[in-house]
Amino acid sequence: MQKIETITAMRVAAAELRASGRRVALLPTLGALHAGHASLIRLAQARGDAVVVSAFVNPLQFGPSEDYAKYPRTPSADVAFAEREKVDVLFTPTAEEMFPKGFSTQLMEDYVSKPLCGVVRTALFRGTLTCWLKLMNIIQPAVLLMGEKDVQQVAVVRKAAQDLALPVEILVGPMVRDADGFAVSARNTYLSPAHREEALAVYRSLCRAKEMVYSGVKSADRIVAEVTHILAEKRRLRVIYILLVNRETMEAVREVVPGQHLLAISYWVDEVRLTDNFSL
Ligand code: AMP
Repeated sequence: MQKIETITAMRVAAAELRASGRRVALLPTLGALHAGHASLIRLAQARGDAVVVSAFVNPLQFGPSEDYAKYPRTPSADVAFAEREKVDVLFTPTAEEMFPKGFSTQLMEDYVSKPLCGVVRTALFRGTLTCWLKLMNIIQPAVLLMGEKDVQQVAVVRKAAQDLALPVEILVGPMVRDADGFAVSARNTYLSPAHREEALAVYRSLCRAKEMVYSGVKSADRIVAEVTHILAEKRRLRVIYILLVNRETMEAVREVVPGQHLLAISYWVDEVRLTDNFSL
């Protein structure tokens, strides 16, 4: 595996991979690599793609009151992880390398980005799109790997890729959960066992929503009311949003169409902001 920190060296390595005839798949991450990332790496490898993982805590996607400074950074573990997963290149640029002083260009998607996480976290999708477009310009991957953990991110990137005719295939892998159902995320390391125990109610409430749909309930209001009721019993949980949405547009829907819609939730467990979602 190559570990690369500069844009120039990354361009050369990516060109070599392409020249060897391999399709290059890029997995952009914030580092602190975990089982969710591994599943995406394996998805691409199973198709024979060469995999480039970028591990970079992108400052552009964090708002001023968010957790940029304390976001988990595990550089040596990431190298060992990427080696174990037989990643071809681990790209770990510094913030200065990606966004040097004076950097002043950003890419904004103005529709799918607006609801859900976009309401309060206004920097999130603009910062992600800008960073990913730069990564794609450096690496020129044939495939962009993303996880269903971040459904709105998938929808925003799909829309931007379509609007701008980006020459990349978007490959989306399923959500990876721990054995107890908790959605795997780097931010889970912020949680104490007591926090985690309370937050598990979120997974239970999403399962309950799915049961309701199986038993014929279609009304978004009824499903959201039930989920809210389950979560209201937990002292440390505060819901930011629970919405039934169309998976492509992120628009709220009134009636569930099984397979087309999903329940998206964001919540605080004390000071930790987490998201989850479930296809209904
Ligand atoms: P992150 O490092 O959190 O920015 O995630 C990088 C990519 O991995 C994104 O496309 C995420 O959606 C995906 N990812 C993160 N956690 C999971 C998970 N639990 N299951 C599947 N994909 C995930």
